Amino acid sequence: MMKLKAYEELNPPNVLLLGGGPSNIDPRVMAVLSSPIVGHLDPYFLEIMDDTIELLRYTFKTNNNITLPISGTGSAGMQTAISNIVEGGDEVVVLVNGYFGERIKDMVYRCGGKPIVIAADWGKTIKKEAFEEVLENSNAQVVALVHTETSTGVLQPLRDIVRIAHLHDSLLIVDAVTSLGGCELDVDALGIDVCFSASQKCLSCPPGLAPITVSERAMAKIRNRKTKVQSWYFDLSLIEEYWVNRNRVYHHTAPISLIYAIRESLRFLYGEGLEKRWLTHKRNSLALIRGVEALGLKMNAEEGYRAPSINAISIPDEINDENIRKSLRENFNISISAGLGVLKGKIWRVGLMGVNSSERNVLLFLEAFERVLNKEGYPSKPNQGVSAAMDVFKSF
Ligand SMILES: *Cc1c(COP(=O)(O)O)cnc(C)c1O
Repeated sequence: MMKLKAYEELNPPNVLLLGGGPSNIDPRVMAVLSSPIVGHLDPYFLEIMDDTIELLRYTFKTNNNITLPISGTGSAGMQTAISNIVEGGDEVVVLVNGYFGERIKDMVYRCGGKPIVIAADWGKTIKKEAFEEVLENSNAQVVALVHTETSTGVLQPLRDIVRIAHLHDSLLIVDAVTSLGGCELDVDALGIDVCFSASQKCLSCPPGLAPITVSERAMAKIRNRKTKVQSWYFDLSLIEEYWVNRNRVYHHTAPISLIYAIRESLRFLYGEGLEKRWLTHKRNSLALIRGVEALGLKMNAEEGYRAPSINAISIPDEINDENIRKSLRENFNISISAGLGVLKGKIWRVGLMGVNSSERNVLLFLEAFERVLNKEGYPSKPNQGVSAAMDVFKSF
């Protein structure tokens, strides 16, 4: 007989989550998580679903009919996009300059597609010339890429990529997991066909939902598939029967509390204004960057191509990656992320996402960061970081 063990009451530490995600939950969103749940076909919930759809259309800047939250994390959004759009034998051009581009490639392959990879070094963008050449020499009708590559801190410019893709009659799938709500993104004006995100990055919700929006052009490809979508759970033609069509046919039980949460978070974003949120992220990121540079460190991504929601700092040779992260967590209750894949040990990733993108957090981080660097033997003139950041706040 197994000896009964006394399990302690759940008591997680309250950590400032300045990493690649999840980010901290907006306290106002946290509050609705304890609201009573209703049935997934309850008239009250149907109204909440409608609000959520409208607010997501606002946030994606789209009129797409198919705009809804997928049940699952960001990767579920990716899986939905790829498994619905890609059929066996389809050539899919995938732009790979980081960890999440690799994940898209793997999903294309697993869905029976043939990924044609255009690669760049992790930390660099994909140039339009390389893209043009590949599209001219392939039959690919689908292009997939990451907008904000969370693994490198790079923001991939979309305008030329979309233009070239459309010139070749290709559908465009964009991973906006760390972009939505955190940086300029206009799905309809750009002409993106499929765009997905996640609740726990710039939307300051718990992990578990992946907002997605799909154009009519993309839905036409899905409706004309010769084979069924392999995944029953992520089949958009089934999901739309519940989420979008008025007959509201049960597909799977909606995660009620999470829908409450995202509806509240989007309601606050709407109240504040999307463009204002973009500007806040930009300003705070710039302040952080100037502060880091004043400490004598360098950013991983090139100026002009830096994502405002995720700031990748190059680690100086003489400094131990892990000691810094450990010390920030132990002494200041701040969690930042390590590098992934080839950038492991080479960068730290500091996320400023959603409500976490604040003046207070920038200053707090810079102050703490300077102290732990000093402790590891990295010298700095006191307060250079904080005062450089303050200059940005004053000028913006
Ligand atoms: C976080 C992230 C994902 C994966 O999302 P999960 O919620 O971890 O499944 C995909 N793409 C990008 C760019 C991300 O930052």
